Amino acid sequence: MNSKEKDFWEPVIGLEVHVQLNTKSKIFSSAPNRFGDEPNTNISEVCTGQPGALPVINQEAVKKAVQFGLSIDSEISLLSTFDRKSYFYPDSPRNFQITQFEHPIIIGGMVVADVGGESKEFAVKEAHLEDDAGMLKHFPSFAGVDYNRAGVPLLEIVSQPVIRTAKEAVAYVMAIKSIMEYLDASDCNMEEGSLRVDANISVRPKGETTLRARAEIKNMNSFSLLEMTIDSEINRQIRIYTANPHEDFNKLIQPGTYRWDPEKKETILMRKKESAEDYRYFPEPDLPPLIITKDYVASIKKVMPELPHERYKRYLEEYKFSEYSASILINDKNLSDYFEQAYKVHPNAHALCNWITVEFAGKLKEKGETLLSLGISATHVAKLVKMIDDQTITGKIAKTVADDMIAFPDKDPEEIVKSNPDYMPLNDVDVIEGIVDQVVKENPQSVEDYKKGKKKAFAFLVGQVMRHTKGKANPQIVNDLLQKKIK
Ligand code: MN
Repeated sequence: MNSKEKDFWEPVIGLEVHVQLNTKSKIFSSAPNRFGDEPNTNISEVCTGQPGALPVINQEAVKKAVQFGLSIDSEISLLSTFDRKSYFYPDSPRNFQITQFEHPIIIGGMVVADVGGESKEFAVKEAHLEDDAGMLKHFPSFAGVDYNRAGVPLLEIVSQPVIRTAKEAVAYVMAIKSIMEYLDASDCNMEEGSLRVDANISVRPKGETTLRARAEIKNMNSFSLLEMTIDSEINRQIRIYTANPHEDFNKLIQPGTYRWDPEKKETILMRKKESAEDYRYFPEPDLPPLIITKDYVASIKKVMPELPHERYKRYLEEYKFSEYSASILINDKNLSDYFEQAYKVHPNAHALCNWITVEFAGKLKEKGETLLSLGISATHVAKLVKMIDDQTITGKIAKTVADDMIAFPDKDPEEIVKSNPDYMPLNDVDVIEGIVDQVVKENPQSVEDYKKGKKKAFAFLVGQVMRHTKGKANPQIVNDLLQKKIK
């Protein structure tokens, strides 16, 4: 798409984000809500739709829904209802999903997301509780169905069609993921399917106020797939409209469910549009309306955990972090908690942030590991920083100690340093002076340059001394001696 086309067309994207809530039991029965177990072990009569089995709402799921609603400033419905959404497929032996169609528990609200460093607000239409379906598994000669997932509580968060780019869509979903993690309402493990995204995508000329035919793409479970698919679908629709300027635009885009084809690298039509009528929604007769009180909502509001945007603000004020550093930490709740643990041991916020998000992250990136995945404790990282601040080791040696910590994730860095005489800093002024004299003698040009005002030449000379001492010389002593010798 060229920039002229980009200026002419406006993509309209609405997202439905399905988040599995991490309650102990399922939404309508006491069967365990657990991923990864043997197929069909976490099931009850309700999950498998036995005749006469009656659903009972899980209070914990309601609580997590309300917490989410409060965190995005939604209206919490004091009365919401459940409906049956009929469809035929072996993943649901009842032939319907229990959802909230007419009166959802969460209405409205605003998700604040960081889009390329800029904070943007995205309006939410509603969020409703529903049950997840089972899963079909395909084997060489047959297919099986696992009902362990049937009845897992889902909160489906429906945005208004206010998202305009694939990047905005990713930022919006990331913000929801982050809120869920801070609430401890979901593990949001996208690979395991606990956060899945459906996107409704259409395109219209800028200024047009009605919506054109849309493509729906279901069940995207990674950020890269989400971004790629949305971009590709936007471009496909623009291509079709642009190539057929004289056709009735209503006939150009086939509304329906599309999927990403990894071979063609584009979205292809799976099935034509089904409308709400096709699902024959009707009120669920086995569940009474869900009634919650204002006092209940107030009691949840009182004990809300710190939310990502609140922690972000605190990091800017309390630690004077840059917006960039603060967002790297808070976007990953586990990493942010890790930083806080380390800070309790050694309160040098900036150095800790640098070691966690830059030094270690850089060293571990290639291996596809993180401090958390390797099990290096926050206390150990704090001790490493403390040793630099105490001048027990130099910053240069600290990098080598960090390599050792990665090689032996359980080892205490203090032990690593104690057991290796090479890591001790060189503080002996006489020894360092000898090396400084030698470096000054060997680099007359740099000495001249420095005297003429070239600051870089001084750094070069310091570097030479450090090289001769394998990074162990106390930098303060080196600086003082060099300055004395060549002023
Ligand atoms: Mn749904």
